[in-house]
Amino acid sequence: MKIMVAVKRVVDYAVKIRVKPDKSGVETQNVKMSMNPFCEIALEEALKIKESGLAKEVVAVSMGPSNCVDTLRTGLAMGADRAIHVEASRDLVPLTVAKLLKKLVEVENPGLLILGKQAIDDDCNQTGQMIAGLLGWPQGTFASKVVLDKEKQVATVDREVDGGLETLCLDLPAVITTDLRLNQPRYATLPNIMKAKSKPIKKITPEELNVDVKSDLEVVQVTEPPKRKAGVILSSVDELIDKLKNEAHVI
Ligand code: AMP
Repeated sequence: MKIMVAVKRVVDYAVKIRVKPDKSGVETQNVKMSMNPFCEIALEEALKIKESGLAKEVVAVSMGPSNCVDTLRTGLAMGADRAIHVEASRDLVPLTVAKLLKKLVEVENPGLLILGKQAIDDDCNQTGQMIAGLLGWPQGTFASKVVLDKEKQVATVDREVDGGLETLCLDLPAVITTDLRLNQPRYATLPNIMKAKSKPIKKITPEELNVDVKSDLEVVQVTEPPKRKAGVILSSVDELIDKLKNEAHVI
């Protein structure tokens, strides 16, 4: 079985986000970029499944500008066998990513498609659900545990939901999106970083896949959240009750 993993290049989680002066988006020039943390977890899960003998190949896919190749190289250094880069100059919305992924799935025929539950730049949490819908495949989102049964061609997925855990049995092929507690992604070792340099990255364009990347979604403005006002220390409970009653009007 082949596993395909979608990995997105995003602003590193530790970077303090700055809004561009013209409010058209966030600053990405001279900012550290990394693989989306949930995508690292997705790739780790695919590699663990391969290492347990249940899959033969792991293919990492990324869509976006030319420097997505760096993210794919990280994926190859973690252990993916090969990579596909769909080169697009503009930011892609989840529906476009899902349409592009569908085309790649039709060519590659993976038994499992694993994505992060959300990208930390747009926080959309949409792509996994959309691609499952487009393919007509079962989906297990927010996975915190995945067990594959190769004979029965079934994946058992524990999902983290508000009330606790939900367990689903998905017929393969299926789409899984990963939650934080699924695993602890590995670091790429130096020898594997060197080896990754000779692993293949196939380049393809949305035009070649016959997908229009034009989006119906327009970002009107990006602004910073309002600054929090400084807090005050009150001297008594009576004073607190008075403020809640007469200033905040909440009691
Ligand atoms: P989102 O729906 O944007 O929150 O993204 C959810 C997941 O979809 C990510 O964790 C990735 O696995 C995948 N994804 C979204 N955008 C891209 C992209 N441009 N390239 C590769 N994978 C992506």
